[in-house]
Amino acid sequence: MEYHQFSCGCKFPIQGYFEDGKPKIDLSPTIENIPLDCSRTWEMLGRGDTFGVFQLESNQCAGFSKKLKPSTLGHLAALVSIIRPGVIECIEDGKSMTNHYIDRKNGVEPVKYFHPALENSLKNTYGIAIYQENVLQISRDIAGFSLQEADLLRKCVDPNCTVELENGEITKIGDVNIGQKIKTLDGYTTILDKFNNGEQLVYKFIFNNGQFIVCTDTHKLLCEDGICYSAYDIFTKRIGVQSINGIIFIEKITKAEIIETIDIYVDHPKNIYYLNGIASHNSIGKKSTELMAKCRTMFIDGCKKQGIVNEAEATQLFDWISVGQRYAFNKCVSLDTIVETKYENKTIDNIEIGDVIKTKNNEYTTILDKINTGIQDIYEVELENGKKIKCTLAHKFVCSDNKLYTLQEIFDSNYEIICE
Ligand SMILES: [Zn+2]
Repeated sequence: MEYHQFSCGCKFPIQGYFEDGKPKIDLSPTIENIPLDCSRTWEMLGRGDTFGVFQLESNQCAGFSKKLKPSTLGHLAALVSIIRPGVIECIEDGKSMTNHYIDRKNGVEPVKYFHPALENSLKNTYGIAIYQENVLQISRDIAGFSLQEADLLRKCVDPNCTVELENGEITKIGDVNIGQKIKTLDGYTTILDKFNNGEQLVYKFIFNNGQFIVCTDTHKLLCEDGICYSAYDIFTKRIGVQSINGIIFIEKITKAEIIETIDIYVDHPKNIYYLNGIASHNSIGKKSTELMAKCRTMFIDGCKKQGIVNEAEATQLFDWISVGQRYAFNKCVSLDTIVETKYENKTIDNIEIGDVIKTKNNEYTTILDKINTGIQDIYEVELENGKKIKCTLAHKFVCSDNKLYTLQEIFDSNYEIICE
């Protein structure tokens, strides 16, 4: 076959010639023929010229693409990952993790590791934990987690997958409530917790009888041998899956997309319930505070046993990876801080989930969750109007240019805080 070579070095097959002698080039890309080193493509992304590029279309993403100047597939994957809200909001040394990654990649900031023991798991990401895989690797290296234990930290499904309620009604998992009972292998089980698990890459796994499930490739299904395996392992190893209709096999995987996913946590001895009629392992969510507390204890205990880091380092390390992965908040105020609710003033300590509190512009917003972030260094700030607030250096305030800055940034740059 004849090929046409472009100035960037990319080659595509020639299907024939036009009357004027110009080649008819077959530009239809396949996963095999896309060159990963096309200089023009990387230059385009480095200019922030991302209009029409999946995931990078917004102005903000174009801006980050321009700053990062990706030149490898690894940089591109990282770019998509570091523009997630959790990473952008995660501030360390007065700078977001996103900017730390960009500066380290561009050689503006030296690569350093939170602890030398992390070099193995983080060398490809300049010392920054940006992927869940980084966290899983750290959990295995430092805390000696088994693959299954490390897996506690992820997994999720499409909110449109269905479950069967006790009254026989079929409903979307996104619409079920805590306390409702749903069908499992041996009767019904209660939903103990439910949470949004953020944007994840999901696939549609289609079975030989037409049943299907949309979930991450790490989501686990109960197989014929009574063990749960990830959907991807089930497909590659051709293992039979238990379902309402007996043993079924995954025939093909289609459609990969990034969607808001959901997790539920059920009260079943094996943590199994029927999802789209398929025996599915419950997804354990990273935002469930109780489970995170359990992971934290497991992690610290594991580290002590492994002996690579000491207990204090293990605690710091868990908090460090938690922050980047949105497992916890890095912004906190002290418990005696007063907020104004619709009816009275309350301290943060007494605020409950569901309380309606006042925001700027005299609007009200509902408290969705409240998390104890442990003992931290706090500072007392006194404003010109005499008001005082105690918070960490990572807590953010709205400043005179209407942007949010951390207390650290406000100190460093003398920004003016807006107050009532
Ligand atoms: Zn090219």
